[in-house]
Amino acid sequence: MAIYQSILLAIDLHPNCDDLTAKRAFDMANQCGAKLSIIHAVEHINAYGVAQAYPTVIDLEDQMLKEAQEGLAKLAAKYNIPADQQFVEIGSPKNVILNKASEVKADLIMVGSHGRHGISLLLGSTANAVLHHAHCDILAVWLDDHQHKA
Ligand code: AMP
Repeated sequence: MAIYQSILLAIDLHPNCDDLTAKRAFDMANQCGAKLSIIHAVEHINAYGVAQAYPTVIDLEDQMLKEAQEGLAKLAAKYNIPADQQFVEIGSPKNVILNKASEVKADLIMVGSHGRHGISLLLGSTANAVLHHAHCDILAVWLDDHQHKA
């Protein structure tokens, strides 16, 4: 039996980092014959705890959601990931990634070593939080600072 059957790739829509992590996940899924799903979390805009009460903030979040769906679909198309395996959800990246992992019964979660929240750290805060709370294997794709700055 293949070592992994369901791989969840977490993508932060950083233009220079996603492609490398997506390529690694694609290759891993191909080699294992695993299903590859892809997730991006759109974080709530925090306006002193009352963000959701402002219609303009809700509009902005809807716009961010739409743009994220487009960005994810573009990346997914490049790696032949079907629409029903692409997910964009609002919430904290850690919770969104972990909830989706249990929903798709992921036996491997792939993340970038550090992204928007972790430049210059060995492991970014999202990657670290996922690592500490996941119930399956985690693979962090090493991204160096060049990728963030390029
Ligand atoms: P960070 O820990 O935030 O520096 O980012 C490290 C990795 O966590 C990224 O390369 C992604 O794999 C994942 N990640 C971070 N933010 C998000 C997000 N909003 N949605 C999905 N994955 C994310």
